[in-house]
Amino acid sequence: MQPTYAADAEAYREKVQAFLAEKLPAGWQGTGALEGEAIDRFLTEWRKTLYEANYLAPGWPVEYGGAGLSSLEQVILAEEFARAGVPTGGHNDVFGIQMLGNTIQMWGTEEQKRHYLPRILSGADTWCQGYSEPNAGSDLGNVGLRAELDGDEWVLNGQKIWTSAGHLADHIFTLARTDPEAPKHKGITFLLVPMEQPGIEVRPIKMISGESEFNEVFYTDARCPKDNVLGGVNNGWAVAMSLLGFERGEAAATGPIRYEAEFERLLALAREYGVADDPLIRQRLAWCYSKVRIMRFLGQRTLTKFLAGHHPGPDGAISKLYWSEYHRKVTELAVDILGADALVPTGRPPSSAFQTDDPDAPNSSASWVGTFLNARAGTIYAGSSQIQRNIIGEMILGLPKEPRP
Ligand SMILES: Cc1cc2nc3c(=O)[nH]c(=O)nc-3n(C[C@H](O)[C@H](O)[C@H](O)COP(=O)(O)OP(=O)(O)OC[C@H]3O[C@@H](n4cnc5c(N)ncnc54)[C@H](O)[C@@H]3O)c2cc1C
Repeated sequence: MQPTYAADAEAYREKVQAFLAEKLPAGWQGTGALEGEAIDRFLTEWRKTLYEANYLAPGWPVEYGGAGLSSLEQVILAEEFARAGVPTGGHNDVFGIQMLGNTIQMWGTEEQKRHYLPRILSGADTWCQGYSEPNAGSDLGNVGLRAELDGDEWVLNGQKIWTSAGHLADHIFTLARTDPEAPKHKGITFLLVPMEQPGIEVRPIKMISGESEFNEVFYTDARCPKDNVLGGVNNGWAVAMSLLGFERGEAAATGPIRYEAEFERLLALAREYGVADDPLIRQRLAWCYSKVRIMRFLGQRTLTKFLAGHHPGPDGAISKLYWSEYHRKVTELAVDILGADALVPTGRPPSSAFQTDDPDAPNSSASWVGTFLNARAGTIYAGSSQIQRNIIGEMILGLPKEPRP
């Protein structure tokens, strides 16, 4: 199966390739060839370059700072960026642009669009996601953080947890309970809350990898203006769900490219450690290879639907379950190949706590061990594997619903 794109799509691909050739340094080998502070310096500059070219949110209308690209053009852009080993945005853009920005496009008032969208793109505002609470994770409808109106302001009290990048953000989109009497999914409001105020306290959580990428966030009489509601008071559940649909974004196009590159690195690792001929390792490598090939076809199916104008909907659960479960296994194999070296990780660590390391990253033990540890989280965040299976069972296969209390 070798899909082909129409001639005008290929012409656009050449345009993107020319952009990359012009903007990337001579001899560019991908972010994998950079280390330490050089990565952050490059990413900051690269984000600026994309901002100036209107490529940060390529699908947004031009009037809101996007490039107004068609779905096909967006896919080609993402593919070419992944092949060149450069990201399509900065670290925070998954929250600011992909999740919140897209949701504001869908639910925001004209005033909200004009205020927030340019600030997200320019980097003036950085956002994090305040959904999960100690008693509301998979069962998100259980959100208990209270918001009460006091004149022209909402007053918020309660706690969020697992807030990725909460220590770096200055705004948090918050699910809050605004009507405790209403049925649980009907009394929730989606609020846009500034974090630089005395009522908000952020406490970092140390992860198994040793990094502190997520946080607890405490609200004690925290305040936000009455109008900072997205999508209407007590309509937060619908807004929250549409945001989760955007969370998966372009992964269908870029995921297979990154996982294929990761598999090539794994193969090189097996050869380097002299175990590529070991029958048990070969069997596991072959399993990984088959999985990555299937992932490409799965991605193509998702893309075909996307290009035909369909939102992934419950189908997104198949991809989420697939890549996250695969990633646990492939990184376990890497750690088995490393053997005792995995106990003393050395060399360049992964540049991201999410998904694969950079395609051309050195095959260091620190890269694989870091990715192995982070892959444990992949089957939890953005909906755990059990929840994805429930969605697939109930919404795609039409199996009976699980008993609800
Ligand atoms: C790295 C990382 C980053 C995160 N970033 C953010 C963030 O930025 N903002 C944010 O709001 N949240 C974030 N989260 C939280 C994430 O969304 C939750 O961890 C996730 O939804 C699961 O909720 P929980 O941790 O409360 O587990 P629980 O919901 O308590 O689940 C515990 C276990 O029970 C299982 N389970 C629960 N319900 C069912 C059911 N009905 N059927 C079968 N099994 C079930 C789950 O699958 C899981 O194995 C992040 C999590 C991680 C790991």
